[in-house]
Amino acid sequence: MEEITADSLLTCPECGHEELLTMPTDACQWFHECSGCHVLLKPIKGDCCVFCSYGLVPCPAIQLESIE
Ligand SMILES: [Zn+2]
Repeated sequence: MEEITADSLLTCPECGHEELLTMPTDACQWFHECSGCHVLLKPIKGDCCVFCSYGLVPCPAIQLESIE
């Protein structure tokens, strides 16, 4: 099995709040509510999920693609 990083530090673009979250490896997570300011984060246009837009590491699906 390839090494996939499932934990990502998600930084809120509104308030800068950082959260360590575990990404689902079987699906893309489109929305995340910031626990700091409770804004509903959505992916930036062209990104597949909130982790790709605001996370420290890209989501597992993108990681798998880059391994191949
Ligand atoms: Zn926030």
